[in-house]
Amino acid sequence: MTIQLTKDEQRLVDHAKEMVVKYNNHRNAKGQLATIYAFVLSDSGKIYDGACLESTISAGICAERAAISNMFTKETYSSKIACIVTLCPVPEQLEYSPTPCGVCRHVIWQYGDSKTTIICGQYMKDNDGWRFVPKKEKYSTTQLYPKPFIDPWA
Ligand SMILES: [Zn+2]
Repeated sequence: MTIQLTKDEQRLVDHAKEMVVKYNNHRNAKGQLATIYAFVLSDSGKIYDGACLESTISAGICAERAAISNMFTKETYSSKIACIVTLCPVPEQLEYSPTPCGVCRHVIWQYGDSKTTIICGQYMKDNDGWRFVPKKEKYSTTQLYPKPFIDPWA
C-alpha cells in the first residue's frame, strides 16, 4: 500500500533522502558506518536534522530526539513538530521500517499535536550507492503512542 504524503511531508522526505546520502558519504569517507537519521519539520516550516548519537556506555541519544533538540536550538519550546521522518539503515528490506523507541514516542507526542505525523523508512547500500526502500509507513502520534504518560502532579 502506498501512503499519501502532503506537500510538506514530501518536502521533508525529499530533504531527508538528500541529506542521508550526503551525511553517509561523509561518514563513509571517514571510515564510519551508516546510522539512523531523523528530520523534523517544525510548525514554522523549517527543517532540522538529527543523527543517532552512539556512545560506548549505552548513553546515546536517538536521532529523533537529536533532531528535535536541534529544532529547539533555533526555535522555542513552544514549537510543534508538524512531521518527523526517520530513516534507518538495514541489511535487507524489513517487513516494516523501524519505528521510534518509547522515549522518542513520548517526546514526539509532547512536542507534537493531533496533526503530527511520523514517517518511517529504510535504506541500504548497494553497488549503486544508497538505495531507499520505496515503501514507507506513516503514523499519527496516537497510533504510535495511544496512551501517553501524563504526570498527574504537573
Ligand atoms: Zn528513540
